[in-house]
Amino acid sequence: MADETMLDILKRRGVSRRGFLKFCAATTSLLALPPSMAAAVAESLGRVRRPAVIWLSFQECTGCTESLTRAHSPSIESLIFDAISLDYHHTLQAASGHAAEEAREHSMKADWGNYLLIVDGSIPLKDGGVYSTIAGISNLAMLQEAAAGAAAIVAIGTCAAYGGLPHAQPNPTGAVAVSDIVKDKPIINVPGCPPVPAVMVGVLAHYLTFGTLPDLDDLGRPRAFYGESIHDRCYRRPFYDQGKFAKTFDDAGARDGWCLFELGCKGPTTHNACATTKWNGGTSWPVQSGHGCIGCSEPDFWDAGGFYKALSTPVNSVSGAATAAVAAGAAAGIAIGLANRQRKARARAGHQTVTIADLEK
Ligand code: SF4
Ligand code: SF4
Repeated sequence: MADETMLDILKRRGVSRRGFLKFCAATTSLLALPPSMAAAVAESLGRVRRPAVIWLSFQECTGCTESLTRAHSPSIESLIFDAISLDYHHTLQAASGHAAEEAREHSMKADWGNYLLIVDGSIPLKDGGVYSTIAGISNLAMLQEAAAGAAAIVAIGTCAAYGGLPHAQPNPTGAVAVSDIVKDKPIINVPGCPPVPAVMVGVLAHYLTFGTLPDLDDLGRPRAFYGESIHDRCYRRPFYDQGKFAKTFDDAGARDGWCLFELGCKGPTTHNACATTKWNGGTSWPVQSGHGCIGCSEPDFWDAGGFYKALSTPVNSVSGAATAAVAAGAAAGIAIGLANRQRKARARAGHQTVTIADLEK
């Protein structure tokens, strides 16, 4: 069973070849690869054998696991129970106590150098790391030990990626990110509080397909999902461009879908896929439900200004032509948008270079 390929596993589970190809087409789309890559993804993914995965949860709220277990496409069942061997996960594993720790140690020994390490939560360093321990082992010691044998590390959620809420001032536990500790392993950051389920699943699917980490931006995030800002993908953007801003959450403008910029929306400075993947199986997302983005996928989001403080606040009423302050805000938005479009172009260019030969590596 351990030598089964992904295709073997799916066949055994009654998944048809047509269903598998559909799954691969969805995965290709999630990864922002050209549709023509779907066949190559199917060939490569079909040959994948089950990699070992160890998931460590440190200073966190379990929201990331909650988010992942709400994933819809590809189904979390196929990923967790069929495609990967999730050898250790505090929340999802059946074992507890000594048996759970033995499972972690056994998996690390059996797949030393090859397993994928997923971490959610930040790591407290203050006072010797006493503020979060598992089985009497500090988070710092457990991370260092598990990271030493990992092929790669996925830092899931803003806490693992950038320190997140525990890192917010005054940071009483001395919380830091995975990348502040581990310097000699490839790390992919998948920030968000929590991350979008489709993004987490997409990153795992990329690893399973290519055996490598996807193209990353300068904050270690996959460009396929974080290459553009919320603002660039927001359906309220035409109102922003026209200078039409809601003044309160229940005024006529808000009800007509006007831009939430003046109500504190951090969409222009936040990179994530919410606006396109949405949440709850594609039902909606925060801006669609009437609240501005709070910038949860960026470093220091909790300390980066009040949720309801505009990034650049127009001081006069907006009517047709923008005021100087609005113009300044719009100019900042345009500049940010341009930078994001350049990021997107780089992301696309990066993906265009993926060939069958790359898949064979
Ligand atoms: S400021 Fe916020 S609500 Fe307005 S267009 Fe940008 S992301 Fe959408
Ligand atoms: S809209 Fe903004 S704050 Fe809300 S989940 Fe998406 S990135 Fe996070």
